[in-house]
Amino acid sequence: MGLLAVYGVPHASSALYYGLHNLQHRGQEGAGMVTFTEDGKCHRHRGLGLVDSIFSHAEIEALPGNIGMATVRYANISAATLDNVQPLCFRHHSGDFVVAGDGSLVNARQVEEDLEKDGLIFQTALDSELLAYLIKKKGDEDRIDNLIHALQIIDGGFNFMIMTKNRIYACRDSHGIKPLALGRLGDGYVISSESCAFEIMGAKFERDIEPGEILCIDNKGLRSNRFSDVKKYNMCAMEYIYLARPDSDIDGCNVHAYRKEAGRRLYRECPVEADIVVGVPESSLSAAMGYSEESGIPYEMGLVKHKYMGRTFILPEQSLREMGVKLKLSPVHSIVKGKRVVLVDDSIVRGTTSLKIVRLLREAGATEVHVRIASPMMKYTCHYGVDTSTPEELLCSNRTLEEARDAIGADSLGYLSPESCTASTFGCAEPCMACFTGKYPTKLYEE
Ligand code: SF4
Repeated sequence: MGLLAVYGVPHASSALYYGLHNLQHRGQEGAGMVTFTEDGKCHRHRGLGLVDSIFSHAEIEALPGNIGMATVRYANISAATLDNVQPLCFRHHSGDFVVAGDGSLVNARQVEEDLEKDGLIFQTALDSELLAYLIKKKGDEDRIDNLIHALQIIDGGFNFMIMTKNRIYACRDSHGIKPLALGRLGDGYVISSESCAFEIMGAKFERDIEPGEILCIDNKGLRSNRFSDVKKYNMCAMEYIYLARPDSDIDGCNVHAYRKEAGRRLYRECPVEADIVVGVPESSLSAAMGYSEESGIPYEMGLVKHKYMGRTFILPEQSLREMGVKLKLSPVHSIVKGKRVVLVDDSIVRGTTSLKIVRLLREAGATEVHVRIASPMMKYTCHYGVDTSTPEELLCSNRTLEEARDAIGADSLGYLSPESCTASTFGCAEPCMACFTGKYPTKLYEE
């Protein structure tokens, strides 16, 4: 999911529209936008598909106000229906409010059951709806107390943004599993899942929202509160490895710099003799550059990506993912023909993509294909909202390295160690690597 909010920005919807384009990589299943006008009226537009296909000029114009919130939706376990496209709008006698969230609660089922016992029923499968009910359940006059109380009930890897007609709250879980950054735009503010949204909006990066922090923005400026004494920097390693854009800085570490360093370390840990290094576009290119620099093997553009295709592991159905691989990548025959290729990829989830790319390169004339993965073997499920699949579907959950190599048809296969994965953040974070190691930063609750 990609979250974006602006406060005190004229034509908030236009600023959000541009910013959403730079978050499109975080989800292509749907997008939504809500603004408030001073009379407390909420204006919303949302749809399924890409940002450009959902928002026309007229629809942006129809969202007035200087405060607003927007999202792009990532395909996860909740159904791909309009109901599940955030932000969600809620009516309340104290004033309408809007909620959007990224990530996943590990105790969602328990919280939902408790609320259901109180007679509540739900319209969506979203954690944001749970949070909205928890905020209003306490019923105190003091809004920040209500929010702190609600956030102390939930657990997991999450960011939430809550908007009223004159205020925005941005909250990040106490383990810092999801990224959330604050920027300055003119006299106003921007909150974004990734700092890469700031550039296109003309905003300047200020700082990351701290783990366990509630940042409140209103006409008094910024105020910071905490809902937890815990403050850890367990950023999702997959953000650095695959999900985030290379021009984003997350918790003090630039994503491109991280990937390049991982590529350098990957060569030191898994060297191989070859003629060219080829990265799988786009998210593996920085790691491939690092591998090439460290090894002295020239980097070549052996694969070209067709733009405007969704990411394959974000597509919800296996059959769609398989078709997607063929449609989205083309080998450059004249570059790979007769060459021993080191194919650098950021990660292997199910192995579908790797198997097809190795075949594409062989069909284009590569004499050897050595696959090097700039992350450790993925063996466990993510409980924090990243659709890394069930253990049965993961290539490496029950395979040895040799069996995994055989399954993708490569001449050799090598993975980055968990130690190097952590070290590639240059000490900025102790990333969550639970899908590689099985060590989850939070408690897991029984279903
Ligand atoms: S389990 Fe994996 S995908 Fe999930 S938050 Fe941790 S590192 Fe990211």
